[in-house]
Amino acid sequence: MTIGWCFDNTYYKLSKTFKEDIKPIPVKNPEIVLFNKDLADVLNLDFKNLNNQKLAELFSGNSLPEGSNSLAQAYAGHQFGHFTMLGDGRAVLIGEHLSKKNKRYDIQFKGSGKTAFSRNGDGRAALGPMLREYIISEAMNGLRIPTTRSLAVVKTGEDVIRETSLPGAILTRIASSHIRVGTFQYIAAREKKDELEILLDYVIDRHYPDIKNSKNKAIDLLSIVLEKQINLVVNWMRVGFIHGVMNTDNMTISGETIDYGPCAFMDTYDPKTVFSSIDQMGRYAYCNQPVITKWNLSRFAECLIPLINKDQEKAIELATKIINSFEKKYEEKWLNMMRDKLGLFGVDEKDKFLILDLLTWMHQKKVDYTNTFCHLMNENVHKNKDYEDKDFQNWKIRWNERLKINNNTPEKCLKLMKTVNPLIIPRNHNVEKVLEEAEKKNLKPITELIAVLKDPYTKKDNIDDYQNPSNSDKNYKTFCGT
Ligand code: AMP
Ligand code: MG
Repeated sequence: MTIGWCFDNTYYKLSKTFKEDIKPIPVKNPEIVLFNKDLADVLNLDFKNLNNQKLAELFSGNSLPEGSNSLAQAYAGHQFGHFTMLGDGRAVLIGEHLSKKNKRYDIQFKGSGKTAFSRNGDGRAALGPMLREYIISEAMNGLRIPTTRSLAVVKTGEDVIRETSLPGAILTRIASSHIRVGTFQYIAAREKKDELEILLDYVIDRHYPDIKNSKNKAIDLLSIVLEKQINLVVNWMRVGFIHGVMNTDNMTISGETIDYGPCAFMDTYDPKTVFSSIDQMGRYAYCNQPVITKWNLSRFAECLIPLINKDQEKAIELATKIINSFEKKYEEKWLNMMRDKLGLFGVDEKDKFLILDLLTWMHQKKVDYTNTFCHLMNENVHKNKDYEDKDFQNWKIRWNERLKINNNTPEKCLKLMKTVNPLIIPRNHNVEKVLEEAEKKNLKPITELIAVLKDPYTKKDNIDDYQNPSNSDKNYKTFCGT
């Protein structure tokens, strides 16, 4: 029985401008920590004939599968608003694998050693942050939010030096591609129109073949990416996800969430929530995420200008029109998402007030975001006095009146709510606890957490601990883990 690799490495065929051909740097003593059998099945890969040693050799990059052509991708990015040339400084793409359904997946090792883009970094990653990315990316998949996924984590048997010495690790990341807004920025900065055209055609071929023959491919791509990114950020807002580093190099063209660094889920509802230790100005706070999405899309639009129209002014005018459609589209999608969260069908002109009044109450009362919607679904097992509050009771009367408008049964409304309101999110205290245990070689808690996060919309026994917010979230800080 073979594993079933089916490599077809199209990015590798691009010229030197786009990447550095490089192999992962071998590691001393690889040891498998997590392996995602469900994801392997999705990929039609079968690893059952590999023992743990062989799995570790494979997922550390010590032995590359046949058919792989490994490379580090070049990209640039606005980091906290400042433009920098970047690239895969601690990752290599080992190839593109085709599943039996002919779906194309990038297979990437993160933490695999220095590349031409490492700058001052060591090219390595620490175990904690790689496990964290595994947990959160798989949780996002369970929440049905577009995301890169995690196939495996191996320990390298080498230490990495951060503030202290930490165990090194490599994450195998799966993505529909790793092409970012920053990839376009890198190529656009070189000011060679033919290279930009190559990238545009490559991306359209790979992700959006429907616009292959359109009259203005660049403008159509901008429209599609805008739509995809609005859908994505609305999904983040839905579950209280805070990405933490929405730099343009961390925004994909595919519309998948990528690069789980200092991200975290909001517990207590506060639009200004920031967890990242490096985000002192709150640039990437929960409520700023839509604005930043638009800002990043504007940077994307700038890259495309030379391809939109020969006449620069005309090109800017066309691109600006698309970018300026952001607010209206976002508001519409956000409103519909919030209607779903409240089980509301159809449209009523007062919906926006109903929704905003609930959010304002949640903010004032400092209640848990996720659990408030659980409460409205009668799913919150814990008694909580906050919900006896008179203002909330009055709001509920208005909500119940609104629910009646479209003449839907309560069952139908509840069914809708259950598809969008998770019972479980990866809460910070749970994530921290399982990471601590994993560092002590106890993998049971992390495995259990990953298992419950697979299906966060379905009620199960013994999930209380995963539903309880921690008391200390206010001071919770996340770190980049580079
Ligand atoms: P990130 O914060 O993971 O999105 O990374 C931003 C940039 O820094 C990317 O170009 C990374 O490849 C690079 N980088 C992050 N950590 C390291 C590291 N330990 N060594 C080399 N490059 C790194
Ligand atoms: Mg990144």
